[in-house]
Amino acid sequence: MIYQRTIAKDVKVTGIGLHSGKKVTMKLIPAEADFGIQFVRTDIPHSKPMKANALTVGTTENATTLGSGAEAVHTVEHLLGTLYGLGINNVFIEIDGPEVPIMDGSGASFVFLLKETGLKNLNKSKKFLVILDKVRVEKDDKWAEFTPNSNLAIESTIVFPHPVIKTQHFDFEFSCENFINNIARARTFGFARDVDYLKRKGLIKGGSLDNAIVLDEFKVMNPEGLRFDNEFVRHKILDTIGDVSLLGYEIAGKITTYKSGHNIHNLLCRKLLETPSAYEIVSASALTQEVREAHKLPQFITVSH
Ligand SMILES: [Zn+2]
Repeated sequence: MIYQRTIAKDVKVTGIGLHSGKKVTMKLIPAEADFGIQFVRTDIPHSKPMKANALTVGTTENATTLGSGAEAVHTVEHLLGTLYGLGINNVFIEIDGPEVPIMDGSGASFVFLLKETGLKNLNKSKKFLVILDKVRVEKDDKWAEFTPNSNLAIESTIVFPHPVIKTQHFDFEFSCENFINNIARARTFGFARDVDYLKRKGLIKGGSLDNAIVLDEFKVMNPEGLRFDNEFVRHKILDTIGDVSLLGYEIAGKITTYKSGHNIHNLLCRKLLETPSAYEIVSASALTQEVREAHKLPQFITVSH
């Protein structure tokens, strides 16, 4: 039996929003099975909880936003990616501002926090979204696709005309351990030449060398350098996991991306949901040999967390 998971107890975290620059405190609270991940804005009276779901995504410019208008929650992707990475399916998140704190620009602080808090198995089977058929979205020269695979795998390629990045490629096979060791610590990044433009648009007000890799024309400006040579594409995989976790299930399928971003990831999720023949939701407890054969499901689903 592969059980759904929540956290062992309440935990609080405080930080600043990357784009808003505002200080925010989040409280993560254990939740029952099938609750999913839900956010509520405690700074807004009578605000209703909002389920983390691909169809509730508002804007995807520079970050993934849940909802729209005054009650939206911005920059959810690194927290959601980390919850997925640790196999946490259910948690209630109170947040007293418009944006999830950026921490160090990666998922590392959330991994530390959640492991310290402890995880708790719930008495109900996990559910998997099993990809049965290829689904692809394209926009200009960018694209992303789902194809069948027995476990979540992500093959990502990014291309930036910058001497430190150029073309980077990473092939990631999901396991909790692999996520923690190879993906969670990869930071978000930006270019010094874009700083003025983004600030004029009201973005990255909280951005600094403490919460992003910043590149000038030739090199990384952060004095500590990079955590991995290909930290940039590894971060793209953290973003991808966060964005596809909004499907609401653990995924058995491969995602291949080329020059993708939050917008393409969300379009891919929406197209999948519009294509019922391309996926199936299966309870881990129902994954008997007969069910696998009847539905042509993968022969095994690796879950190592
Ligand atoms: Zn990111």
